Amino acid sequence: MFDWMRSLYRGMEYRVRLGDEISEPFQSKWGILAGDSASPSLFCGYMHDYNPPVTVDDLIILLVIISVLVFADDIAKFLPVSPIAPDLHHLQTKLDYTEKEFCARSSFLELNADKSKLLLIGARNPPIAPLTVENGTRIVETVDSFVYSGITFSSDIRNVFSGHYTLRAKQAQNAVYAVFASEAYVGSLSVVHAVRIYYARVDPYLIHGYEAIVDIKESDLRKLQKVQIGFLRRLLGLHPRCPLALLFTETGIMPIRHRRLILSLKYAKHTLEQSSNHFANVSFRDSRVMHSTNRSCFVGDLVKALKKLPDFHVDVDVRSFETVEGIDNLIECVQEACARHLASGISSERTPLLNPILRGLKEDSIQSVIVLRKYFKFITVSSHRKALSRLLSADHFLAVERYRHITYDNGQPIPRCERRCRYCRVCVEDEVHVLFHCSALQLLVARRQKLFARVNVLIGETAGNDLRHLCLSDSPRAVHRFLDHPDLCPTFAKYVFDILKFFPL
Ligand SMILES: [Zn+2]
Repeated sequence: MFDWMRSLYRGMEYRVRLGDEISEPFQSKWGILAGDSASPSLFCGYMHDYNPPVTVDDLIILLVIISVLVFADDIAKFLPVSPIAPDLHHLQTKLDYTEKEFCARSSFLELNADKSKLLLIGARNPPIAPLTVENGTRIVETVDSFVYSGITFSSDIRNVFSGHYTLRAKQAQNAVYAVFASEAYVGSLSVVHAVRIYYARVDPYLIHGYEAIVDIKESDLRKLQKVQIGFLRRLLGLHPRCPLALLFTETGIMPIRHRRLILSLKYAKHTLEQSSNHFANVSFRDSRVMHSTNRSCFVGDLVKALKKLPDFHVDVDVRSFETVEGIDNLIECVQEACARHLASGISSERTPLLNPILRGLKEDSIQSVIVLRKYFKFITVSSHRKALSRLLSADHFLAVERYRHITYDNGQPIPRCERRCRYCRVCVEDEVHVLFHCSALQLLVARRQKLFARVNVLIGETAGNDLRHLCLSDSPRAVHRFLDHPDLCPTFAKYVFDILKFFPL
């Protein structure tokens, strides 16, 4: 191994590039192959002798002492101390070993006093004696939050991960801004492309940390939900009042609450698939033991999160966490709960054209309920697509929706049957009426005739007449006949765009 490393570095040559010019090769005694695929193995070899003294306060996880985490050049030591009078004596012992024994004598390193920090989680008082380095001459700074291995820890025990959620939500929001700012250069993004970019640029921030953090605090989760919902609303051109479920059922993106929980369950399954001496496996099994004694732990958080799912929660048998099959079953339950939750969201009277039964969706199937709908692929004009989205999602100025937010002078709501059409004054001014039934406005009738003339050209007179009859007899089904047809769909979206102009605010 050492011979190979010597050979590797002895034969290594560098060149400096400036513009198109490249220097003659030269050798250097400085520089290492940081980031090389061999680095983790070399690092493990280098740190093999790092063995801080064991103390009585060390964390013991199923008989395995784990009080130190070592990741690249970052070392984290953690010990339980009294929140009333934190005694850092044993932590000082470990720090002294690291500085004086390992760094100075074994590995020829120097501990960076400026970068060394102390984080006391849940402590109500300052430590009895400060933590020091450099022979007690420098006190280690105490901080309120610290980032280790990408996770932000906070000293507030009730909000240990709040800083993490805030940071990731902010990064995700910036990514969202960048995605839509790109439209200034590339034009309006199609939904298909935007969804792909979402998974590449936004989703990684939203799901970050699911292996360690389960979403049990609503205020933290809301930070991520706000970014995700904001992205989807802007993509579809919808306002904050529109129903939420359709944002997911139409784009194929899963709500972040369900997505993160499924990922956390998959990680739990991953730990079970490791060997019994793998630290992740040991830790997960220890978490099961802790949950059985009613202590806060990863498994306990999973149980809470499963029970808190909206509308359709998952009843948990904790024995499910003992086997891979049991966790697979829980994942399927979360997917089904998600599908049912969203299906119930689009079953509302507000969105008659999205009714899942009408569309033949299986309400318990995630593959049926959450799909990037084909009509987004068929419509290439952004304004037409947004008009269609507004019509489907009750984000329009038709009386049926506008008078939903208004009451009579006596405070009583205006019943649906009283939200009459502004032109004919007879029927309810809803989506179906303005699309296919209202004949009180000549311009509207003329535009409808133009639509059906175009339909006859596209699919033939016989099929066109059948569709025209369907529009009158079963309008919602006719709308989906339009949306499912690659040629009719763009024509229909343009028609919706024009029709909504006849019904301004
Ligand atoms: Zn009318």
